[in-house]
Amino acid sequence: MLVKRIFRLQYWISCVVCFTNLSIGSAYSQTTDMIQNTPTDIVTDFDTTASENILPTGNDDSVLNRCWTPKQLQNTAKERVIHLQKPADHSPPQGSSNVDLDNTHNRAFSTSIAARSIRSVIPAHGEKIIALTFDLCEQADEIAGYDGAIVDLLRAEKVHATFYAGGKWMRSHPERTLQLMADPLFEVGNHAWTHGNLRVLRGAELNAQILWPQIQYQTLKQQLITRSCAASIPDSIPDQPTTFRFPYGTCDAVALQEVAAAGLYPVQWDIVTGDPSKQQTAQHIIDTVLKQIHPGAIIIAHGNGRGWHTHEALKTLIPALKKQGYQFVTVTRLLQSGQHVTAVNCYETKPNDNLRYDKLFGRGTE
Ligand SMILES: [Zn+2]
Repeated sequence: MLVKRIFRLQYWISCVVCFTNLSIGSAYSQTTDMIQNTPTDIVTDFDTTASENILPTGNDDSVLNRCWTPKQLQNTAKERVIHLQKPADHSPPQGSSNVDLDNTHNRAFSTSIAARSIRSVIPAHGEKIIALTFDLCEQADEIAGYDGAIVDLLRAEKVHATFYAGGKWMRSHPERTLQLMADPLFEVGNHAWTHGNLRVLRGAELNAQILWPQIQYQTLKQQLITRSCAASIPDSIPDQPTTFRFPYGTCDAVALQEVAAAGLYPVQWDIVTGDPSKQQTAQHIIDTVLKQIHPGAIIIAHGNGRGWHTHEALKTLIPALKKQGYQFVTVTRLLQSGQHVTAVNCYETKPNDNLRYDKLFGRGTE
């Protein structure tokens, strides 16, 4: 356990290294045999049959405002804190008793989604639209946080965003998950069940990481529907997440295929804030994003208490990006806007730059 803790610490520390493209040469040379194809970016078309999720701006009569008071929506400092959980919790989601993870017929969809990771989008009409994304990672041996100051800021600025929630995070934060689901500004994507390393996990364990969050999301949405305040729940709240983000930024052909087969678009990023590093500064996040921003960009940050100076940076970034004419949209909306820039594998900033995580974390979910 101690070794794993150290490795995890190394991971969060190493984020600043990998995010700034340093010291990745040895990882390349040691593990190039693991890659069968050179992950060269290509462009593919979007499946326009995917569910629509162009969300209206919130109003006073929204489900969000009918189900929660402003005080209930507001962040609290204590929710940002991450707690260890012992023993580790590998139990399945609520409402999962009849799911056979080896039976592909139980998959939600039959799709033609490409088994490639999406890194950004080229908007068809050159729209200056971008997607802010916040990962809500939670492993088996922790209860991760809720960085509500970020959410409050996004609401105040009327900024659309996508939250990639771990399924176990949804289960441990049911009310916050429902608020994110019900908010017309936001959407909730799938960030695996307990942050497993999907390049290593196989079979039922791999499928559980992908499918259990779908089940947890459905269960929570059903709970919301039963509330009188949500009697006329808007159609814009999807029945299930439609996009997936790989933990540790790691995947391979098998994992990509399983995610696509589950009807989920594998969505990574092309601009990295590096906010998991405590050494990161707000100014560096601001500079990094402003230097790399472009129409169709997907930006990764963290909203689970592991994002450092994220809120502080956003207070400057959001007005600065608006001033440049950028509009913030959900990932689903971005995917609908044009062609996808994709890769055959997953990585942080350059192909193969995260292969060492297989050795550091193994299955990633103990
Ligand atoms: Zn994560």
